[in-house]
Amino acid sequence: MIEYENLSKANATFFTEYEATFKNVMEGGWYILGNSVKQFELEFANYCGSQYCSGVANGLDALILSLKSFDFEPGDEVIVPSNTYIATILSIVQNQLTPVLVEPDINTYNIDPAKIEEKITSRTRAIMVVHLYGKLCAMDKIMAIATKHNLKVIEDCAQAHGASLNNKKAGNWGHFGAFSFYPTKNLGAIGDAGAVTTNDDSLFAKINVFRNYGSHVKYHNEVVGFNSRLDEIQAAFLSVKLKQLDEITAHKQQLASLYHQGLKPSFIKPVTEPGYEDVYHIYCIRHPQRDQLKEYLLNNGIKTEIHYPVSPNKQKAMKGILDHCETPISEEIHRTTLSLPISFYHSQNDIERVIDVLNRF
Ligand SMILES: *Cc1c(COP(=O)(O)O)cnc(C)c1O
Repeated sequence: MIEYENLSKANATFFTEYEATFKNVMEGGWYILGNSVKQFELEFANYCGSQYCSGVANGLDALILSLKSFDFEPGDEVIVPSNTYIATILSIVQNQLTPVLVEPDINTYNIDPAKIEEKITSRTRAIMVVHLYGKLCAMDKIMAIATKHNLKVIEDCAQAHGASLNNKKAGNWGHFGAFSFYPTKNLGAIGDAGAVTTNDDSLFAKINVFRNYGSHVKYHNEVVGFNSRLDEIQAAFLSVKLKQLDEITAHKQQLASLYHQGLKPSFIKPVTEPGYEDVYHIYCIRHPQRDQLKEYLLNNGIKTEIHYPVSPNKQKAMKGILDHCETPISEEIHRTTLSLPISFYHSQNDIERVIDVLNRF
């Protein structure tokens, strides 16, 4: 059986160093907002090439706190791709803001910059982009549109640690980069964790206050805040893994290139474009008989996933919020997409076997 993912196996390389890390943190006796968080924030900001990083509890909170920092009015509009994980949309709705869906480019699966301007109104305040599957959005074009219309830009970088366009990494283009370190992400913790990156010192200060009860000085609360802190233990584990992130990425890129070269053309493969460095959080192919294909692979001992089976506007939770939206491109992707195994622990042989079985479909 080739599994889609096995976190125990993917994390096995880090076990010995994590044991020593656990001992250090445990014996250090300081478990919230201490030196391990500070250290990781410096390292991760440095990794992304951005000036500041603030550790938070998870990726959804990273998005929520980013939006919260702008003092938008309830009902203000945020432009967001129609084919994203629900968290992106939830962060907008949880801020009493209105999500305005823009369809993706059918080739890149990322928000289509050519369709953004027609959705801008007098109430539009921000564009929340998602670097889906580990590929950057067309950030050069999107930043030009944002500047022209005086809009804030938040990047959902949950799937794009280290991905870049023209050597500028995810989390370093907009006002904020929001990261998740959910265990399956390319840089994954042993539990929930997240971070916000920015190059603006006043926005950085706002996130730090919001994540810690609206407080800068202990027991003095300036704004209505949250408890959304990154744990010391997770930060310490993340510092260990961050040293290997380029290796993790290179491994996934190598597996992706095997698929790219080996799969027959009847499968629609992810596009690669000059200037874009993709990190393949997910390697998805598209096929009109997706469900039969998934079952065929399972019968041949290969597990796959679907990211995602239902588009956000078709979710029950979005009734009265997004159910009026027509998103044919997004739905075509949801209907035909299939994610193939591409974990850090998968070997080239595993992938060769997947290719072999797929090509006989
Ligand atoms: C994983 C993910 C999130 C949410 O991250 P959590 O840490 O699970 O809250 C947000 N957006 C995208 C695109 C994701 O893939």
